[in-house]
Amino acid sequence: MDQSDNVLIIGSGVAGMEASLMLSKAGKKVTLVEKLSLIGGKTIKNEETYPNMDCSTCLVAPIQQEILQDGNINVLTSSLVEEVKGDAGDFTVTINKKAGYVDLVACLGCGMCYPVCPVELINEWEENLTNKKAIYVPCAGALPNVPVINAEKCLQLNGTETCNKCVEACMFGAINMIEKDEKVEVNVGAILVATGYDMLDVSTINNLGYGKYPGVYTAMEFERLFAANGPTEGELVMRDGEKVPSSVAIVHCVGRAQTHYCSNVCCMASSKHAHFLHHKLPEAKIYNIYSDICLPDKTYQKFHEDVKAHSSKFIYQADRDKMKISEEKGNLKVEYLDNNNKDAFIQVDMVILANALVPAIGSDDLGKAMGLNHDKFGFIEAQPFRIGSVATSKSGIFVAGCAEGPKDIQNSVIQSEAAVAQIMSLLNT
Ligand SMILES: Cc1cc2nc3c(=O)[nH]c(=O)nc-3n(C[C@H](O)[C@H](O)[C@H](O)COP(=O)(O)OP(=O)(O)OC[C@H]3O[C@@H](n4cnc5c(N)ncnc54)[C@H](O)[C@@H]3O)c2cc1C
Ligand code: SF4
Ligand code: SF4
Repeated sequence: MDQSDNVLIIGSGVAGMEASLMLSKAGKKVTLVEKLSLIGGKTIKNEETYPNMDCSTCLVAPIQQEILQDGNINVLTSSLVEEVKGDAGDFTVTINKKAGYVDLVACLGCGMCYPVCPVELINEWEENLTNKKAIYVPCAGALPNVPVINAEKCLQLNGTETCNKCVEACMFGAINMIEKDEKVEVNVGAILVATGYDMLDVSTINNLGYGKYPGVYTAMEFERLFAANGPTEGELVMRDGEKVPSSVAIVHCVGRAQTHYCSNVCCMASSKHAHFLHHKLPEAKIYNIYSDICLPDKTYQKFHEDVKAHSSKFIYQADRDKMKISEEKGNLKVEYLDNNNKDAFIQVDMVILANALVPAIGSDDLGKAMGLNHDKFGFIEAQPFRIGSVATSKSGIFVAGCAEGPKDIQNSVIQSEAAVAQIMSLLNT
């Protein structure tokens, strides 16, 4: 068997980025595969991160830059792992790198190509809160700051019209319409799965009015509303682009009956939202409606207590499945069972649903392609018989961060550092 010293990391969130840099510093060659056109994972959707309300961009951008400039790390964006063959020490991995039609080196990120594009699309990365063109970067400040073209929607690439507007607008000749998808094969000794999470689709939950009433938002939509590089440039206005909410209800544990687990980060994210709202809109009435409070770190209780004392009224609901949201005279009516099991309600302008974290879309197929076990919730299973392990059911393949289950940034990074230690121990013996 040919023992390879190289490592494949799948997913470029905080877990994948931390492991990539540590392994590179230890002299390993890393291939970092990311399905999107930008690296950074969900953390770059946050304006600020609890518990210290640090600026997320200030935390993550230097790491993203370091990764993109590191000669030991080959970053493959818009890419998916297709096939994994072999065993620990000697895996052969086939990766499908989707054509982006813009040269990563020639493009200066000047943005001249987007405004001229006639195609308007919904921007899913921005939680559908704004539009993008067929040639786009998902958000301002994306890294790499190089656009990609949606080949199915581009008029030239899908053959519906003879549009060439973006090519003509680019003064640097960076757009290459004849680029093709590419198969990349790598030989690695170990693999780290760091594919993170997605959010539960709350439109599937009855009675909460998501998708029906414009004033109802998900937690990630609210993250983008308060982001300076988000769809409203950080202005706290509702979907009509004008109304500033004067009362907000933040509902904890949304989808817990569906997932059957506590999502670990939502109570703190909800406290963060209350804190932010209070600072941005000091006159607004803010309510956190909860049935359970999860504060899994020694610093979190203080943050939560400060929010409770200064920013938000906390309301206990006895049965989260009995909540009903409706619209009445232009306001949202939030009905719930109070601590005496009696019907109660509040009326607000805005509702933020703290929806559950679920396994990343596609992680089922990815796990199967690699021969990994999933736990009963669908996350990649770490070896259950080893306490605190990040080893999976297949030797040589490790898991870290939210790919293993919901957790905060700190614990995602701790797991990825543990995975690096196990990878080093495997490759250096
Ligand atoms: C509303 C909200 C607010 C939060 N706020 C905070 C906070 O303030 N502080 C805090 O500590 N934590 C916070 N968190 C938790 C934080 O988002 C996670 O801890 C962190 O993102 C986990 O990082 P990760 O690398 O495991 O996963 P992710 O950030 O999800 O990154 C995974 C990456 O893998 C990529 N990927 C997925 N599947 C594939 C595939 N098949 N192939 C290739 N790439 C793939 C994804 O595109 C993504 O880039 C919050 C969570 C939510 C929901
Ligand atoms: S060629 Fe395609 S991407 Fe470029 S401007 Fe036209 S429609 Fe947009
Ligand atoms: S493709 Fe050209 S026009 Fe578009 S951002 Fe890059 S350099 Fe600017």
